[in-house]
Amino acid sequence: MLDIAAVRALVRTVPDFPEPGVMFRDITPLVADAQGLRSAVRHLAHRARAGGADAIAGMEARGFIFGAAVAVELGIGFVPIRKPGKIPVATLGIDYALEYGTDRLEIDPTAVTPGQRIAIVDDLIATGGTAIAAAQLMRRAGAAVDQALFVIDLPDLQGAERLRSAGLTVEALME
Ligand code: IMP
Repeated sequence: MLDIAAVRALVRTVPDFPEPGVMFRDITPLVADAQGLRSAVRHLAHRARAGGADAIAGMEARGFIFGAAVAVELGIGFVPIRKPGKIPVATLGIDYALEYGTDRLEIDPTAVTPGQRIAIVDDLIATGGTAIAAAQLMRRAGAAVDQALFVIDLPDLQGAERLRSAGLTVEALME
């Protein structure tokens, strides 16, 4: 298994994407690397196990990659948190603010068992807006959400602090 420094070395930084001035942290080389993918998943799973999660929820799309793999590693289920209009049954949704405009996340509430302890998993936390919305949505569905796990934290944007203020334990493999 690779240590965190070796996993970190597999993350690519792409300047000026999706717009000028933004340094995009790209996990594509990490997940394309067999050892990198397995190691990142195991580091996340170790933390989710310690947190006592009995299911994982991940956000479309990169949260599906890591979240589903962590769930398999732990032998627990996975709840997909989707972009709008993708779920073929009655949904529970939440609208949340972006820098410009709003976005929306939806789940199939029947995928959540009341009282289930769910850990949120995504590739990256920036402002924390997406993860807070995801946690609120899962809580509305009856889950106990007390842990959020990320491969990458951008600490300057203070998303982890926002999540902690919402009562979550936050861990990221790297900054
Ligand atoms: P937040 O809501 O501001 O915390 O943004 C986090 C969401 O945007 C996550 O779902 C990320 O996948 C995505 N995101 C924001 N910045 C980056 C980046 O630099 N690389 C990859 N994903 C990003």
